[in-house]
Amino acid sequence: MARVALDHLSVRFGQVAAVDDISIAFEQGEFVVLLGPSGCGKTTTLRCIAGLEQPTSGKILFDQDEVSHLPPRARQVAMVFQFVSLYPHLNVRDNIAFPLRARGENKAEITRKIAWMNKIFDLGEILGRRPGTLPPGARQKAALARAVVREPRVLLLDEPLSAIDEQFREEMRWELRHLQKELGMTTIHVTHDQREAMSLADRVVLMRNGKIVQAGPPAELFNDPVDEFAAHFIGSPSVNLIEATFTESGVALGDEQVPIAVPEQHLAAIRKSGLQHGKVGIRPHSLTPASSGEFGAVPVSRPISYAIGRERFLDFELSGQIWRGVLPSGSGEDVPSQMHLDPSKIFYFTPEGVRLPVA
Ligand code: ATP
Repeated sequence: MARVALDHLSVRFGQVAAVDDISIAFEQGEFVVLLGPSGCGKTTTLRCIAGLEQPTSGKILFDQDEVSHLPPRARQVAMVFQFVSLYPHLNVRDNIAFPLRARGENKAEITRKIAWMNKIFDLGEILGRRPGTLPPGARQKAALARAVVREPRVLLLDEPLSAIDEQFREEMRWELRHLQKELGMTTIHVTHDQREAMSLADRVVLMRNGKIVQAGPPAELFNDPVDEFAAHFIGSPSVNLIEATFTESGVALGDEQVPIAVPEQHLAAIRKSGLQHGKVGIRPHSLTPASSGEFGAVPVSRPISYAIGRERFLDFELSGQIWRGVLPSGSGEDVPSQMHLDPSKIFYFTPEGVRLPVA
């Protein structure tokens, strides 16, 4: 297993900077997810690591070895794509054995490794079946087994779960996570699905326009986003964002200038920024019913409450925008007249969307 380092990596396609000067290291055995909207450069980064794309500038290192210009075969990486590329005329057992035979491993060794894959992936009867006869989840499992049986230095996964039904995807996520932990493989996984990223990653690398916006454990991105984009991209349901006015004495939201309760150290940070306008973000789970007459709570108008599973949500209007908060489960049809914002969980942004640092 290798540590993978990208050093000022850039890839240009004509005028497009698909990857724009990124530097980051993925530790040995780490499960990293590259996350971001379509076109942000995730796949190009992954293909560079695989050797399928050439960097325009910068370096790629596996441990101490520079691999930037080595062909894919020489890098000992395994890659699994969204659409499985198993050999259709071979059964799963022979598909898994194929890369081992190709490098001349003996029969006993191949049998041992297939048994090992069977144990890890619980392949059972699918070993004897051809890919075309298998459901998508089982096919993807076989593709993963074929990728990891070679014991690659790095496992690269490009949206491997996105062609699988939601129902099986959760099971596959679970399998993937266990597999990765058990084998301790350095794994780099690309997805645009933030839920998938948050449930799989040791560390999420959020990208936008070819650059890294933020890299950290999932909880860090959720609780401490560096900007409005990160706050918005991570979290489901998504963060409530609203224009705010900053004054010496407080913060007021929207056109109606609804005052909110702000802790003194946050006010100090806002004053220090010298800004008079900005934006406020608050996650739905930090927006809960207020006690009556509470100062700094926001009024609820045009409410709709509904349940998703065991959780109850409340959508309401504030300054022409729909806001979402949560209600205690079992609260029935009662709707509060005001919602409380957890002051320690409020994000403040500049008008350009950069997060204001607060102590
Ligand atoms: P998606 O989730 O849609 O695959 P992505 O984040 O993986 O998106 P990339 O596929 O890496 O993004 O693409 C980054 C940018 O580079 C996009 O603007 C894309 O159009 C462009 N691009 C990627 N590959 C090529 C290519 N071979 N030739 C020209 N432009 C390309």
